[in-house]
Amino acid sequence: MNVAQTKAMMLYTAEKMVESEPTLTALDQVIGDGDHGIGMQRGFAAVMVQLQDPAFHANDIGDFFTQVGTKLMTSMGGASGAIFGTLFRAGGKSITGEMTLNSNVLCKLLNDGWQAVYLRGNAKPGDKTMVDALAAAAETAQKTQDEPLKQALPQIAKAAMDGAEQTKQMIAVFGRAKNLGERAIGHVDPGSVSMAYILQYMSDYLN
Ligand code: ADP
Ligand code: MG
Ligand code: MG
Repeated sequence: MNVAQTKAMMLYTAEKMVESEPTLTALDQVIGDGDHGIGMQRGFAAVMVQLQDPAFHANDIGDFFTQVGTKLMTSMGGASGAIFGTLFRAGGKSITGEMTLNSNVLCKLLNDGWQAVYLRGNAKPGDKTMVDALAAAAETAQKTQDEPLKQALPQIAKAAMDGAEQTKQMIAVFGRAKNLGERAIGHVDPGSVSMAYILQYMSDYLN
C-alpha cells in the first residue's frame, strides 16, 4: 500500500474508532473512570479532520504514522493519549523512508512501537493494559512478515483480540483498575480492546 492507500485505510479505521465510543466507554466504566471511549473518540475524530485536510501531506509511510501519532497524543489526553500517541509516533519514526506499507513494515512499526510504549509506561505483558494486545499483535506480525498484508492483518488482529480477552484474568498494575485488586478479574482492559479494534478495522478495510 502506498501513502494514499494507507491514508484511506486509516481514515476508515479512525471513523470506526469514533463509532466504537459507547463500547469503550462501557468497558472503562466497569474498571476505570469511564473516559476511555471519549478519549479515543476525540483522538480519532481529530485524526479524521487531519487526514481529510487537503493540505495534509506525508513524505512516506513512517512520516504518515508519526503525524497520526502526534495528533493522537495532542488531542486525546489521559494515559491512553500518551500511550497510543507513542505507539504511532515511535513506530512511525522507525519506518521513516518506507514508501510501501507491507507486512514487514507493519511488523517493524508494531515491534518498535511496543518497545517505545514500554519505555514510556513500563507496562509488561500480564499487567492488564493495551500492551497485552499490542505484544500479541507484534509477535504474530513477526510470524506473518512474508505474507501479503491482506492476509497478515486478520491474523495480527485476531492475536490482539485474544490478547485483550486474556486481560480478563489479570490483576491491573496501572491506573484506577489497580485499586480494584482481584475485583478487576473477569473484566477486560479497555485500552487492550482499543488496540485490538484498531488492528481489526485496518484488517476489515483490506478484506
Ligand atoms: P486514564 O487511565 O487516564 O483514564 P484512559 O481511560 O483513556 O486513560 O486509558 C486507560 C487505558 O490506558 C488502560 O485501559 C490501559 O490499556 C492503558 N494504559 C494505562 N496505563 C498504561 C501503561 N503504563 N502502559 C500501557 N498502557 C497503559
Ligand atoms: Mg479512563
Ligand atoms: Mg481518566
